[in-house]
Amino acid sequence: MKILEVKTGRPYEILIEGGLLTEVPEDLKRLNLGYRYALISDSQVADLLAEDLLRLLREAGLSAELFVFPAGEASKNMDTIVNLARQMLQKGFDRKCAIIALGGGVTGDLAGFLASIYLRGVPYVQIPTSLLAQVDSSVGGKTGVDLPEGKNLLGTFYQPWRVYIDYGVLSTLPFEHLKNGLAEVVKYGCISSPNLFEYLEERSQKLLNYDAESLEHIIYESCRLKAEVVSRDEKEGGLRRILNFGHTLGHAIEAAANYEILHGFCVSIGMVAAAILSERLGVAEEEISLRLIKLLEDLGLPTRIPQDLDTDEILSFLRADKKVWKGKLTFILLKRLGEPVFYEEPPQQILKEIVEALKTQKA
Ligand code: NAD
Ligand code: ZN
Repeated sequence: MKILEVKTGRPYEILIEGGLLTEVPEDLKRLNLGYRYALISDSQVADLLAEDLLRLLREAGLSAELFVFPAGEASKNMDTIVNLARQMLQKGFDRKCAIIALGGGVTGDLAGFLASIYLRGVPYVQIPTSLLAQVDSSVGGKTGVDLPEGKNLLGTFYQPWRVYIDYGVLSTLPFEHLKNGLAEVVKYGCISSPNLFEYLEERSQKLLNYDAESLEHIIYESCRLKAEVVSRDEKEGGLRRILNFGHTLGHAIEAAANYEILHGFCVSIGMVAAAILSERLGVAEEEISLRLIKLLEDLGLPTRIPQDLDTDEILSFLRADKKVWKGKLTFILLKRLGEPVFYEEPPQQILKEIVEALKTQKA
């Protein structure tokens, strides 16, 4: 088993192993977070994994109940939080309980948020089951829900007590969601690990075939990098923002596409844009974009903006995002692989040219 420590105010461990799910009950006993467990999953993961985990928990002598919400981002809202809280109250869950988030990023964000406010806060653990959740959302303690006004607008920083990553569960993850998670791994390679980037280049086909050994390696490296950044900047005071590489334009594309394109796919395009921008502005000291595009294509990820998205709309979503960091539109650019730099307010004309170019380039 691989173990990583996240050194936040209250430190916690990430455990990584194939088949780890079966070891969760015994480990929970050692952790002793509560006398009752609320296992929270979406409808899809409930059928695939949660029923089994519930049985294992009970067989180990732990008191546990399963709470299920409909799978999908549309569930990530306050109604679901209130529904889950009320179901827990009706089942008599008091302050001495703990929550288990078993599922993708939606489940982790919802269950983590609920844990942070349920009876003023109860402990929770993350058992991420999508690749995106295993390499990104389960680590770092950001929780929250969406509002009609935008994504993740209500939330808390609330670190889990443990993260259990069983890459064996990825065998049932739909292919599109595998690629979705891989985009975030490419991001870690770009901002902090040329070695990881090279590994992805060498193993792209194995990864697309769900090869366990390759998955274990990239999950471990991704969590190691994220844990390091989060340990140094728990609440996004500065450094943690490098994790937004590819996300500035990525978010704008996501919004312009009405959230109909997977997040990782938008980040993939956003990373290409950031690489090209790094070169256009003379920030990059080596050629990055062609190598990045090749890797993303090998991983089956998009590198161009869909023709039907409106350039001006994308740019206006970019401007709307300005509020996020001191009123300035800030890009994370690359000097070279593994060396990110912040760049404020790149010329609007250049942004427009890059968006246009990414829409018209031939495949
Ligand atoms: P998700 O939770 O909706 O999971 C994607 C789909 O995969 C769902 O249908 C789910 O049921 C299914 N699934 C999950 N595990 C499976 C498995 N092992 N086998 C079969 N199907 C499985 O979405 P996601 O992509 O995991 O996460 C996206 C969410 O994460 C977004 O809401 C985003 O805002 C959030 N996020 C949060 C952070 C953070 O730091 N908290 C970071 C990145 C993303
Ligand atoms: Zn992301």
